[in-house]
Parts: sequence; structure tokens; C-alpha cells
Amino acid sequence: MERAAILPSVNQNYLLCPSRAFSTRLHSSTRNLSPPSFASIKLQHSSSSVSSNGGISLTRCNAVSSNSSSTLVPELADIDWDTVGFGLKPADYMYVMKCNIDGEFSKGELQRFGNIEISPSAGVLNYGQGLFEGLKAYRKKDGNNILLFRPEENAKRMRNGAERMCMPAPTVEQFVEAVTETVLANKRWVPPPGKGSLYVRPLLMGTGAVLGLAPAPEYTFIIYVSPVGNYFKEGVAPINLIVENEFHRATPGGTGGVKTIGNYAAVLKAQSIAKAKGYSDVLYLDCIYKRYLEEVSSCNIFIVKDNVISTPEIKGTILPGITRKSMIDVARTQGFQVEERNVTVDELLEADEVFCTGTAVVVSPVGSVTYKGKRVSYGEGTFGTVSKQLYTVLTSLQMGLIEDNMKWTVNLS
Ligand SMILES: *Cc1c(COP(=O)(O)O)cnc(C)c1O
Repeated sequence: MERAAILPSVNQNYLLCPSRAFSTRLHSSTRNLSPPSFASIKLQHSSSSVSSNGGISLTRCNAVSSNSSSTLVPELADIDWDTVGFGLKPADYMYVMKCNIDGEFSKGELQRFGNIEISPSAGVLNYGQGLFEGLKAYRKKDGNNILLFRPEENAKRMRNGAERMCMPAPTVEQFVEAVTETVLANKRWVPPPGKGSLYVRPLLMGTGAVLGLAPAPEYTFIIYVSPVGNYFKEGVAPINLIVENEFHRATPGGTGGVKTIGNYAAVLKAQSIAKAKGYSDVLYLDCIYKRYLEEVSSCNIFIVKDNVISTPEIKGTILPGITRKSMIDVARTQGFQVEERNVTVDELLEADEVFCTGTAVVVSPVGSVTYKGKRVSYGEGTFGTVSKQLYTVLTSLQMGLIEDNMKWTVNLS
């Protein structure tokens, strides 16, 4: 029972990239792509009453031209939403915005999703000058409205990272507007309520050519999206962590606190060794004392003891997760005491409950931790009572099932 929307159809040159630096493969594709509707994009915090000039209003993308005829475009992509997992399922469009050496980003545009072309000498390929972000868009129960979760936080984090990596970054407004345009252009790929979300992946990279070590002379900001299924589709599967004693993810003064691409290839080794031994992931310790918890490869960690929630404090070597920060606030509003401080491995081994947070899983219960050959288990193969409660509140808020008193969600309609 698919409803259809009437949208202006677009001419053949639709999204030809004006820049010679990029080519996309799909220009002449006959895939049935849904053209985006830019006619009435309004952005406002869903439960705050932002006036029409207080919100960001978006104008038609320059790269899109329309003719007068109309086509019927299904509101939902015709795929089996129950089988969508966590792999990349490319959607229709990606957003591309460039910045030259003066540090100003030009107006970005939507292009068909496809390969990009960059110089072999690009800064990102040679010296790893790159950052990524990750956030999700949920379709609300009414089927039409889409909710973003705290996109300004991702924008700010990218700006902090860019500062550390000597890169210019889009402003918070540019970032949020770009995410909005991209999600709306790919709206038919936002899963139906309860079937998952649209994962949004912004990238910022030095695409200008360099030879000697220096910041790149040109930067590109790209956003692509992919529908992802519910993480806990087959029921909750608590993860089994091994505490890593040899490898470290981050060092004081390094880049562990920013989402730079270079942090991630470096953790693959420890992660693959752990996986080969049957663990789900690695829990890192501080590199000086090898005693204090840091985080898992791509999510933050929390412990619960006697109803008090503790998580390692942010001080440069831990990625400041937006889910982490939101979880702390949700827990406090639920009446829990939350401490951000140094947390030792010993405390971990004695905890009542352990869980991880990150955009992909939101909250993932930890079923066991292994440290120096000693395995400690938590719970009975499911969420602990505290993590279950917090998971329910946070996801209900993200999906628009409860009122967003925190004013965290942004409603796109
Ligand atoms: C992205 C990331 C997280 C989680 O951050 P969220 O904003 O909650 O998604 C945690 N740790 C690392 C290393 C990460 O890269």
C-alpha cells in the first residue's frame, strides 16, 4: 500500500557536476531515481516553536533544474525493509561542497551518488587529512515527518576536529542545511517507522594536491546516506569485550578526541585479533597506567554500580560521543547519579551492569569482559535494568515516540 507523491521531474542534465574534479557514474543510469523536492523544506526544532525566520529555510539546489511535466514517485523505496542490515545500501543522492585555500565553502549541491575522482596526490590519500561524522534520521510514526537527532552537535564536533587537523570546516548552519537537503533528497530511503533509520555520513577531506607534508590547498565536504536496519533485530545480543593490554587507540596530545579517519585503520588489528578469538570488540585502557578505561573501538563505555552510573571523563584520548553526552543527560533526568571521572579496570570487573553507547547501536549491553584471562559476566543475555530504561527513553525520544523535552530532535517535513 504505497502512496505516491507528485514531484516535478527533472531534465537529463539534472545533476551533472560542474566541477571537473568529480565525476559520477550514474549520470545516464536508468535507475528509477526519485527527484528531491525542495519546494517547501523547513527546518525547525520539533518541539520548540521556532518562527519561520528563526529556522533555516532552504532554497532549491542550483544544480537541479525542473521542467513542467510531472512523474509519480513512490514515497518509499521498493525494497524489503525487513532485510536491511548494517551494510552500505547506496541511496540516490550525495551532497558535495568545496572549499578553496581561502577557507570559505561555496554553496554545495546534490549529485547522484557515485564514485568521485581525486588526485593521487590529494592530502587525504597521502597524509590522512580527513574527518567523518555519523548521525541518523528516523521516520516518525505519521510516516511523513523525519527526525534528525542533534545534528548541530555533529557539526560542532566536525569543526573541532577540523581545527585539530588544520582543515577549514563548514559552519554549523552549512552543515545542518546540507544534512537536511541530503536527507530530504533521499527521503524514500528513510525506513518506515520501526524498521530502522537512515544513516547519514558526512566526510571532510583534503582533496587538493600536495607533495611535501602540508595542509591541502582544497577541501571537499561530502554527505552520503544509507538505510540501516534495527541493530537489535534478532533480539538483544550483549557484546563480549576483551580489555586490550598491548595496543592503544589514543595517546595524550594525539587525535583520539576527534573523529579523524586515521584513528580507525589503526584499531583494526586489535579488533581482528579479538574477533578471531570470539570477542565482539576491544576495550582500550589509558596508555600510561594501563589501568583506566577509555572506550571501545567506536563507542563509549559506561558502568553501573549500586545504581550510580560512571563513564570515563573526556580529556583528549576519548571520542566525545553525542550518544554518550545525551545518555548522561537522560540518566540525570531519570534521577540517576552520573559521574564522569577516571574509571579503573577493577571497578569494571565489579560493576553490576556495563553498556556501550554510539550512534549505530544507541545502547549496547555488555555481556562479558575478559581481562588478563579472567572473564566476568553481567546480566542474563539481555539488557540490565538501568541500561534498558535509558535505552528505551533515548530511542523513544529519537524516534519521536515521546515528547522531546530536551529539544534535541529536528523535524524535517
Ligand atoms: C563515533 C565514535 C563514538 C560514538 O560517538 P556518537 O556521537 O555517540 O556516535 C565513540 N567512540 C569513537 C572512537 C567514535 O569514533
